[in-house]
Amino acid sequence: MTVVRLSEVGRVHDEGAAAVHALRGVNLEAAAGELVAVMGPSGSGKSTLLNLAGGLDLATTGTVLVEGQDLAGVKDLAALRRRSVGYVFQDLNLIPSLTAVENVMLPRELDGVRSGQARAEALAVLAEVGMEHMAERFPEEVSGGQRQRVAIARALVGERRLLLADEPTGALDTRTGDEILQILRARADAGAAVLLVTHEPRYAAWADRVVFLRDGQVADSTDTPLESAR
Ligand code: ADP
Ligand code: MG
Repeated sequence: MTVVRLSEVGRVHDEGAAAVHALRGVNLEAAAGELVAVMGPSGSGKSTLLNLAGGLDLATTGTVLVEGQDLAGVKDLAALRRRSVGYVFQDLNLIPSLTAVENVMLPRELDGVRSGQARAEALAVLAEVGMEHMAERFPEEVSGGQRQRVAIARALVGERRLLLADEPTGALDTRTGDEILQILRARADAGAAVLLVTHEPRYAAWADRVVFLRDGQVADSTDTPLESAR
């Protein structure tokens, strides 16, 4: 089942002489169970692509479907994001005054889930990322790699079907980066569609498919993982 589908998607930032064509005519889809790596040079449109796929930004042309819904017609995009889309940003933006478990519970509580239930779900997903024992710690009380795992737990909670990760291993050492990839891979294997932006072939090797962007266009796409790096 296709979870996200971009058809002939374009995104132009600014207008007139200042217009920047961040994406042009992009076609891309990810099915349940699939981990798709998006690679390409800086400025090639990778983050724009993820923002459009997650409804954080809207396409100028073309259509973006998430679980069959055209995002252009969705009235409450924030609600759709909370329910269907998990987003792991490069900067973690955990809320410093909330504990790990409170950070992870937050999207569920915003969605109207009662706090006992939200806490149970949050603890389960923290266990999945190996952070159960740190549930009551504040973000500044854990390491960078552990913070990233909490941020991933927050993106996973609520069984969201589309997971978007923009260079989630950016500032992490190799071992922690591998752990993050294992979590993303496991989620895909459990039925989520995962889009992973990375510039590291080492991490792209975990993907089922690699899409290369250049100047806002899909330059190449391969079904063959870069096996040698795995
Ligand atoms: P990447 O993530 O591959 O580095 P981006 O998607 O961030 O690329 O950016 C693609 C292009 O769009 C770049 O030329 C960038 O400068 C431009 N761009 C991105 N966001 C904006 C914005 N909000 N306003 C104007 N230009 C933008
Ligand atoms: Mg980027």
